[in-house]
Amino acid sequence: MRGLTTPVVVVFIAAVTQGALAADLRVEVFAGDFASVNSFIFSNGKSLLVLDAQRTPGEARKLAERIHALHLPLDYLLISHGHTDHFTGMALLRQEFPGARIVVANEAIRRDIKSYAIYMDKGGQTGGEPALEPALRPRSGDNPNGFDYERWIHVLADHTVELHGGGKLDLTTDYAPAEAPHMTTVYSKELNALFLADFGYNRVHLWLGDDIDRERIAAWRRELLRIKARYESLKPTVYPGHGHPTDMRLFDDMVRYIDDFTRVTATVKSREEAIQSLKALYPDYNEADFFLRYSVQNHLR
Ligand SMILES: [Zn+2]
Repeated sequence: MRGLTTPVVVVFIAAVTQGALAADLRVEVFAGDFASVNSFIFSNGKSLLVLDAQRTPGEARKLAERIHALHLPLDYLLISHGHTDHFTGMALLRQEFPGARIVVANEAIRRDIKSYAIYMDKGGQTGGEPALEPALRPRSGDNPNGFDYERWIHVLADHTVELHGGGKLDLTTDYAPAEAPHMTTVYSKELNALFLADFGYNRVHLWLGDDIDRERIAAWRRELLRIKARYESLKPTVYPGHGHPTDMRLFDDMVRYIDDFTRVTATVKSREEAIQSLKALYPDYNEADFFLRYSVQNHLR
């Protein structure tokens, strides 16, 4: 009677979908008071990764307190580029979180960090910044308790970081020298979020001081348009290195700022006039007394 038996068809439904496997990744912005500089705390509920480390010991301390309050291991501190407002706090974070691995995307960024630390230790350009943290003076025969840049900062093997417990960040570094000689941007597919590091300033005057000459300003403008084109179709949330998170409109705002800065500094008679013109054009932008002042000083000699 086999012919009468109703076949029992068992259908296995692929119940485990991509979505169920993806880590529950979240990001929190830590907005520093000094220089309007951001750090970002990524969490998957099991471990943490922090992107950039603040400029002053006070801000780094507040960042450390926030990380401690999450009661999860900090596995990685990722430094986006070699400017003091992004790496100074790594000395304190290293003390507070001995299990954290300080990482950078490439060897050039590690070199930038060390050489900028040495430059700042000699006073830097502005005199408007705190002196270099003594803990960041490079380790040497004369300074055996100094910071060991070669051993304590690790260069990632490829352009991704995976958080323990899930979640992946994709790093991009194929940029021309602009705001810094080398820069890392970070994209999270899970969050659809783009972290521009210092390619991005939102309602904060751009830092165009120090070694940022006309050529580097032009390169910054070109790279902004290239990054915009690369991510345009994804419409990510955009997290700048300085200022509040926003969206893709940031790129056009910044290009306009660069054009205004270039025109104003090429046409006015004095530094004071340049500062007043740019303040009038961008009245609600932060860091007029710091970034704008030294940027104008650098481009109007
Ligand atoms: Zn910065």
